[in-house]
Amino acid sequence: MVDVPRDRFVRYRELTELLDALAGARPDLVELSEIGRSHQDRAITLATVTNSTTGPHHEKPAMWIDANIHASEHTGGTAALNLIHKLITEHGTDDAVTRVLDTRCFYIVPRMNPDGVELGLGERPRYVRSSAREWPRTDQQDGLIPEDMDGDGRILTMRVPDANGTWKAYFDDPRLLVPRDADEDGPGPYFRLLTEGSIQNFDGVTIKHAPPLAGLDMNRNYPVEWRPEGEQAGAGPYPTSEPEIRAVVQAIVDRPNICAFIQYHTMSGVHLRPYGTKNDEGLPTFDLRVFKEIGKKATELTGYPAVSVYHDFRYDPKDNIT
Ligand SMILES: [Zn+2]
Repeated sequence: MVDVPRDRFVRYRELTELLDALAGARPDLVELSEIGRSHQDRAITLATVTNSTTGPHHEKPAMWIDANIHASEHTGGTAALNLIHKLITEHGTDDAVTRVLDTRCFYIVPRMNPDGVELGLGERPRYVRSSAREWPRTDQQDGLIPEDMDGDGRILTMRVPDANGTWKAYFDDPRLLVPRDADEDGPGPYFRLLTEGSIQNFDGVTIKHAPPLAGLDMNRNYPVEWRPEGEQAGAGPYPTSEPEIRAVVQAIVDRPNICAFIQYHTMSGVHLRPYGTKNDEGLPTFDLRVFKEIGKKATELTGYPAVSVYHDFRYDPKDNIT
């Protein structure tokens, strides 16, 4: 049985080979299909994982899982790939896995945004929020543009000595920076931070951050509560305007046996549940109880809290995260 890497991130070609190998090893459990093509014409691959000898996938209750809508959140795709691997290697030996594949189905898209991920994993990486498409403008605006200047494969943060800098070295380990106290006026040294990159049209004084050329956030391109660019940056010209989102939405609509949906992201260490824009009063009571019950189990398994986006996952109490 083919193994999947857990200690590094795989680029598109290797991901495709791994999926082919997994499906080739257990054709009775995995079926691959193309649900659409990305902006740069890469296949968006869906793995349908179920025991096909106990009934067709569309007759079983199913769970949808996708990953990598945010290009630099690589662990999501890694986790999705590992889930496919776990399901097919433990079927027949682990009772729970065997039962779940015999009676239920998983639809897994390990990389719904192959273009954006590929940019981030390139030899000279480029960070984009989600899609590689230029939006809402196609001309690069002035300012600091993050870039791998020295070709070491990384875009790092530089510390620049500055008497008015807001950062200082941590006393016990100068490799770490900590914020300077608001009224602190010591000998320093103090630093300000700058992202590695180039400045387009530098005026010699002010360094502003250039808005990203690829400014889409495909999280905001779904039809539910879609709002235009002026109200929700990165939302795209209209709901499902982006081929990746269009493909996912169509694939879900085509599979009415889907009962659950989860997206794998990276960073926050949290299980997020609806709603994003309404408090729990707006959730049907039964749904809320189910979400809480599932969340309890998720916390038990991972140690991560399970919370409502609206109540517990906002940077600004006056603003919603979407
Ligand atoms: Zn994300």
